Amino acid sequence: MPVYTSEALILRTYKLGEVDRIVVFLTRDRGKKRGVAQGARRVRSRFMGALEPMTRAGVAYYEREQRDLVRINYVEPTRSPLSGRSSDALGYVGYFAELIDEWAPESHTDERLYRLGASVIDALASNAPVGPLARYFEFWLLRLQGVYPSLARCPDCGGAFDGGAVMPPREHHFVCGRCGPASGGTRVSISALQFLRTAAAASPEGLAGAPLESAASRELETAHRRLIAVHLEKELKSARVLREIARTT
Ligand SMILES: [Zn+2]
Repeated sequence: MPVYTSEALILRTYKLGEVDRIVVFLTRDRGKKRGVAQGARRVRSRFMGALEPMTRAGVAYYEREQRDLVRINYVEPTRSPLSGRSSDALGYVGYFAELIDEWAPESHTDERLYRLGASVIDALASNAPVGPLARYFEFWLLRLQGVYPSLARCPDCGGAFDGGAVMPPREHHFVCGRCGPASGGTRVSISALQFLRTAAAASPEGLAGAPLESAASRELETAHRRLIAVHLEKELKSARVLREIARTT
């Protein structure tokens, strides 16, 4: 039974039998894995505090031939996204983890996706504002999949997005204000576009110099939700939860 050790991001867990858990994690070098953490639900488990979503950890696991499930030997947390955070970040942590889980193919190495997740955890742990971080994360996730629409110029007239951009209803690219519909669609202001241009060249920690006011953040949130829904062909549960939290506060 070959044993592997890797840096990993914990994505989610679910119960198995009486005392075990199945852990879904994204390794840096061998893609997404599912493994059994034996005894993880016992009171004095060696996995205690190590299996929260979006924990960065060193993981050792055995891989058995012809089996989808690996056996997890240990999980050694190196960074938790919620150390020193208020509970407002909690919903976002679940959202980030669910997005990575949905987008990471099984056992297919995607080091850029791993690095994006790891850098977002680091930014969360160092108290970066969570709203801009979420827009950054969505933007980069969609870019890494090659499905973020062009921000260079309007595909209809070739002009610049100098007056903002519009994602027309039922379409999933941006056109300029001159080519867009008179009403409807998702409007993205110049300041939201400016944030994306900064995000394209910055690490998540580097976002400190890129202010994103709440109106611009909402524009991007809507545009990104439409893009994510069409490319995943479903709406994420955690995104609905976040919207409900926003409505009640
Ligand atoms: Zn145009």
